[in-house]
Amino acid sequence: MVGVVKQPAADRLSDTLGRPLRDLRISVTDRCNFRCPYCMPAEVFGRDFRFLERSQLLTFEEVARVVRVAAGLGVRKVRLTGGEPLLRRNLERLVAMIAEVEGVDDVALTTNGVLLAGKAKALRGAGLSRVTVSLDSLDDATFRTMNGVDFSPAPVLEGIAAAQRAGLSPIKLNTVVKRGVNEDSVIELARYARRNGCVLRVIEYMDVGASNGWRLDDVVPAAEVMSRIDAQMPLEPLDPQYRGEVARRYRYRDGGGEVGFIASVTQPFCGDCTRARLAADGVLHTCLFATAGHDLRPLLRGDGSDAELEQALRGIWSARGDRYSELRSAATAGLRKVEMSYIGG
Ligand code: SAM
Ligand code: SF4
Ligand code: SF4
Repeated sequence: MVGVVKQPAADRLSDTLGRPLRDLRISVTDRCNFRCPYCMPAEVFGRDFRFLERSQLLTFEEVARVVRVAAGLGVRKVRLTGGEPLLRRNLERLVAMIAEVEGVDDVALTTNGVLLAGKAKALRGAGLSRVTVSLDSLDDATFRTMNGVDFSPAPVLEGIAAAQRAGLSPIKLNTVVKRGVNEDSVIELARYARRNGCVLRVIEYMDVGASNGWRLDDVVPAAEVMSRIDAQMPLEPLDPQYRGEVARRYRYRDGGGEVGFIASVTQPFCGDCTRARLAADGVLHTCLFATAGHDLRPLLRGDGSDAELEQALRGIWSARGDRYSELRSAATAGLRKVEMSYIGG
């Protein structure tokens, strides 16, 4: 037909609220060596907890296939997460497979950092673009409380240093702030991040999952943390770098780097949410607060073709209307949401 320019498929795919699919977060395991009370409280995730069986986990080949098809629909960024992703053996092999996918220009990892020192070089060599390390306090006792298993922060700090040596700078540090537990750790973390060329990202404690006993009273609003930091180390706001950026970024007026705030409770950002999440067993979720997902395993393990997989992803994304954080209310509080350690943070 004369005059009709065929658009690449990716340009046309959007959900019911006009949001494209750009990011894929992949949980590679639901297991973790920490028991952070805000994520996997030890009382719930104890000896009797039934984690996914090995046979239920997607293989690296299956994950890479989903990434390839999703990249054809617009995914540009992939983040490996969990549970603790570094518990998955040979993760660098998966990184290499994803880094090769045409269209994917960013492969990131979120980790608690405990096993990072031994892995950073191999991950970088495999094509990892960036790493985010979760670090809730530098204070020994507070850190031990926040991780629920009495680990000291030392191995995490070693992991950060090793990642920097491997060329994974600048490293982002994720800090979830819980009222009365680690709010006093934030200034020291901000100073540590500045000194070491890391970017601190302060995250509001969210009501993900059904087991952390979340109460609004435990949330420290990002604006409050921002004022605390600003009072000691003056800040000024930065413009967003791209659509869908979840962190509100500020820079230190003295040129000492930047800090971001993820205010998903007090200032929701669903309007720009372009993320899908693939759980370790192949169930795809279109919202962090989902109550159910879409099982891709029958397609991946049966004889589904790539075209069928693409059709399924297209159908799921175009029907999406999630905006949980904007709707967060008493009406949704009783829903049984999936756990973050399963769906991938
Ligand atoms: N285990 C890895 C880690 O901790 O970095 C990756 C998975 S973890 C689920 C990903 C991120 O989610 C971490 O930065 C963690 O702090 C954050 N997170 C977990 N539960 C949360 C909650 N209830 N509210 C806000 N952030 C949370
Ligand atoms: Fe594990 Fe990360 Fe959850 Fe902590 S936040 S329990 S490190 S998955
Ligand atoms: Fe995206 Fe759901 Fe979070 Fe809103 S609540 S930003 S739709 S993941």
